[in-house]
Amino acid sequence: MDIEKLVYLFTEGNAQMKQLLGGKGANLSEMTGIGLPVPPGFIISTTACNQYYQKGDSLMEAVQAEVDEALAAVELMQGKKFGDPNNPLLLSVRSGAAVSMPGMMDTILNLGLNDQTVKGLAEVSGDERFALDCYRRFIQMYGDVVLKVDHAFFERVLERKKEEKGARDDTQLTSEDLKVLVEQYKGIVKTKASREFPQEPMDQLMESIRAVFDSWNNQRAIVYRKIHKIPDQLGTAINVQAMVFGNLGEDCATGVAFSRDPSTGESKLYGEFLVNAQGEDVVAGIRTPLPISQLEGLMPELYNQFHDISRRLETHYRDIQDIEFTIEKGRLFILQTRGGKRTARSAVKVAVDFVKEGILTRDEAVMRVEPEQIDQLLHRQIDPKAQLDFIAKGLPASPGAASGKVVFNADEAEKMNQQDEKVILVRPETTPDDIHGIVAAQGVLTSRGGMTSHAAVVARGMGKPCVCGCESLNIDLEKEVFSVDNVTYSKGDIISIDGGTGRVFVGEVPLIDIQLSGEFREILEWTDEIKSLGVRANADNPQDAKKAREFGAEGIGLCRTEHMFMAQDRLPIVQEMILSESEVERRKALDKLLPIQQEDFYGIFEAMQGLPVTIRLLDPPLHEFLPDSEELVEELVKLKLTGGSLEEIRAKQILLKKVKSLSEFNPMLGHRGCRLGIVYPEIYEMQVRAICQAAAKLSKEGKEVVPEIMIPLVGHAEELRIMRELTQQVALQVFSEQGITLDYKIGTMIELPRACVVADQIAEHAEFFSFGTNDLTQTTLGYSRDDAEGKFLHEYLAKKVIGENPFITLDREGVGPLVQMAAEKGRGLKPDIKLGICGEHGGDPDSIIFCHEVNLNYVSCSPFRVPIARLAAAQAKLGKKAGGYGD
Ligand code: PEP
Ligand code: MG
Repeated sequence: MDIEKLVYLFTEGNAQMKQLLGGKGANLSEMTGIGLPVPPGFIISTTACNQYYQKGDSLMEAVQAEVDEALAAVELMQGKKFGDPNNPLLLSVRSGAAVSMPGMMDTILNLGLNDQTVKGLAEVSGDERFALDCYRRFIQMYGDVVLKVDHAFFERVLERKKEEKGARDDTQLTSEDLKVLVEQYKGIVKTKASREFPQEPMDQLMESIRAVFDSWNNQRAIVYRKIHKIPDQLGTAINVQAMVFGNLGEDCATGVAFSRDPSTGESKLYGEFLVNAQGEDVVAGIRTPLPISQLEGLMPELYNQFHDISRRLETHYRDIQDIEFTIEKGRLFILQTRGGKRTARSAVKVAVDFVKEGILTRDEAVMRVEPEQIDQLLHRQIDPKAQLDFIAKGLPASPGAASGKVVFNADEAEKMNQQDEKVILVRPETTPDDIHGIVAAQGVLTSRGGMTSHAAVVARGMGKPCVCGCESLNIDLEKEVFSVDNVTYSKGDIISIDGGTGRVFVGEVPLIDIQLSGEFREILEWTDEIKSLGVRANADNPQDAKKAREFGAEGIGLCRTEHMFMAQDRLPIVQEMILSESEVERRKALDKLLPIQQEDFYGIFEAMQGLPVTIRLLDPPLHEFLPDSEELVEELVKLKLTGGSLEEIRAKQILLKKVKSLSEFNPMLGHRGCRLGIVYPEIYEMQVRAICQAAAKLSKEGKEVVPEIMIPLVGHAEELRIMRELTQQVALQVFSEQGITLDYKIGTMIELPRACVVADQIAEHAEFFSFGTNDLTQTTLGYSRDDAEGKFLHEYLAKKVIGENPFITLDREGVGPLVQMAAEKGRGLKPDIKLGICGEHGGDPDSIIFCHEVNLNYVSCSPFRVPIARLAAAQAKLGKKAGGYGD
C-alpha cells in the first residue's frame, strides 16, 4: 500500500518545497514560518494530483483521511468548526502548480456554506447581507467549477436583479434581493446540473478538490502550458485555507500589489484594492479598483504594515513580489506572494537596483533577466516628436506600441492573424478563455480592469502592448463596434495603442527605434565582463552594421552579398551577367557590378572599423535573380497577342530559355554556394576584388579594416582549396596594384554534414569556420525549411513528434554532434582556428548555451538580437542549462 504523505499543513512546509506543494503552497508555508499574518490552511500535494491521474477516484479515500486530520488542526487554530451551523469555518480552495499559471485553473471561495451555516455566518458577522452575498458567490463558483454550469447563467440572473433594482454595483443589492438570488441560483444548479446544490460541507470540499485536480487538464491550462513550455506531468497542488473576508463592510478591503512597479521597476508599492470586496473582484476586472496609494489615506496604519511586509518579503525572497492581501475588519492578512511578473524594462531596472541595494550580486542579477523577454525593449516605440491626437486614454498596462485592425473576439483575432493580418484585440475585459486571441494580437485594449487585470498580466508576460481600463470606450460586442465621444469605430478599422502611456490612436502611428540606455546598457556591460562567447551580427548594409555596433556587436559574422544583388539598381546588371553567353560577356557585366559592390563593402567596413567583417561570397542559385518562368510565359503570350515587336518577342524567348535551363528540381541542393565559384570563377573574382579594393581604400584613409572572406557550402576540401587559391591571387593582385599589404582571413561555412565529417581536411585551407546551421539543419534532417514550415512541421510539433522547431532551436541530438565533431576536428588540425555560428540559431538563447558548451568563439545573429545574445552568452557562462522553464 502507498503510504506517501499527501496533505501538508502550512506549518509543515517551506519555500523550497515548490515541486511538492506548488508555488503558492510553498510560499504560504514560508510566510507562515516567518510569522506573517497568513490565515491557516493545508496543501494537497502535487504527488496527490499525479496519483489521482494514475489511480482515479480510488485515491480520494486516502486524500479524505489526511484532509480530515489537517482540517481538525485548522479548526483548532481558528476556533471554528467546518459545518458548524452556529459559527462555521469557511474555506477557500485554490489550485497552485510548481510553476505559476495565473488564472488557468479554478478557485472556489466560501466553501462550507449551506442553508444552515449561512444563518450562523449572518449571526456571528452581524451582517445577513454579507452572509447571503458569500453564499450566492459560492453557489456560482461551485456551480461553475464543480458542476460545470456556465457562470453566464448566474451572471444573467444577477444582472437582471441589478437592473430591476436600479443597482449599479452588487453592493447595492439588499439581503432580500440576495435571498431571492440564492434561491434562483440553486434553481439554476438544479436545472442545468440535474442535481440539488450539495448541502453537506465535506461533500462540497471533496468534490471541489477533485474538480481542481481535473482543472489541471482543462483546455486553457493545456494551451498555457504549451505556450510556456511547462511539462504536463508536473501536476497541481491544492491550497485549502481558512477564509478571511474583505467584504464585511467599509473597514474591509482586498487587493493585489507589487513590491515595485512591474512596468517601470520604480521602487514603490504598486497595485490596487477595492473596499468592501471579495477575492477575485480585483483581478477579475469587473469593478475598476483604486490605486494602492489611496489606501494610505484611508487606512494609514494598515498601509504601513503592508508596506513593511512587502519590503520584508522582497528582501526575504530577493525578488520583486506580487502579493495578495485582505483586510478583514481592520486586520491585515496576506493570502499569497509570488515572484512578480514584470515587463522587460522593470526586470532590468529591478535587477540593477537590487545589485545597488546589496540584495543581489552582479552574476545573480544577470541570471534574473530572461533573454527572450528583453526583446520587448528592442521593439519600436511611438515617435515622441510626432504630434498625435489620441482618442482615448486608459492605463499603461504593458509597454510598446502596436497598430492593427480592431477585432472583438479571440477566435477572430486568431483567424485574421493566420491570414497575416495585424490585429488589436478590443474587449471590455479578457478572461483566460481569450488567451489564444491575445497570442494572435499585436496588442490588447480593454475598457475595464486595472493594472493587475487578466489582460494586463497576460500581455506583460507575453511582452505585448496593452492598454487597460479605458473607460471612455463604449464597446458593443454584438454589433462589433466601439464608440468614443459619439464617434463609432468598427471591426477592421485600424487603431494604434501605446502601452507605455495608455493612449489610443486612430490609424497607424510613426514608430522609432529604441536606444540602449540607463540600466539596460549597464546590465549588458556586465554581461560583457562575464561571457566568453563573442557576439557578432549578421548584417549586409551600413545601417544594420551601425545598429549592430550600437547594440554591442563585436563584428559582423555574416554579410550575405546576394542581398546586394537584389537591389533594384543592380538586378538588371546581375541579369545581364547571368544571361551572358560567354565568359567575356559575363566579365563585362561583372565589371559594371564591381564599383557598386565595392561601395557596399566600403560602407560596411567603415561602420565596423577595427572589428572583423565576414563577407560571404555569392551563395544562392542564379535563377533566383531571374523572373519566374510562368510569368514569362504569360508575358510572352500577351506580347504575341498584342502584336509585340519581333525583337521584344525574341528577347523574352531567350530569357525564358535561360530561366528554364537554370531551373532546378531542388534548388536548396543545387547549383549554389562554392559550386557557383567553381563553375563561374569570374563571379567570385569580382567579389574578392571589390572586397580588397574597398579594404585598401579605407586602409589608405587610415581606417582599420579586418576583412574575412567566406566561401559558402563547402563539402570537399578541394573546393575550398581552389577557392582559396583564387581569393589569394586576386587579393595579391589588388594589394600590389594599390601598393599596400593588408591582413585578411579566408574561411568557410560549415553547413553540410560531409563538411563536418571531413572538417580536419577542410581546416587545412581555412582560418575560420562559421557554422551555417540553417543549411546544416536542412541537410541533416533532410527538410527543406520552407516546405517543412509550410507543410508538416506544425503538425510534428503539435503531435510532439519533435519537441522544438529545429530551425529556431538547434537540434542538439542530431545537428549538435555534427557541430561538435567539426569543431573538434578543426581544432585538432589547427588549434587556433576561429569557430563561429551564423545560422539563425546564433540569436536563440538555448542554442547559444549549446555554442558555449562546445566552445565556439562567437555567435552571430540579427542586429536586434545582439543584446539578447549577449545576455544569453553570459548566462551560459554562469551555468544556465538549456530548455529550462521559468516561474
Ligand atoms: C546558414 O545556412 O545557416 C546560413 C547562415 O546561410 P543562409 O541562411 O544564408 O543559407
Ligand atoms: Mg547557408
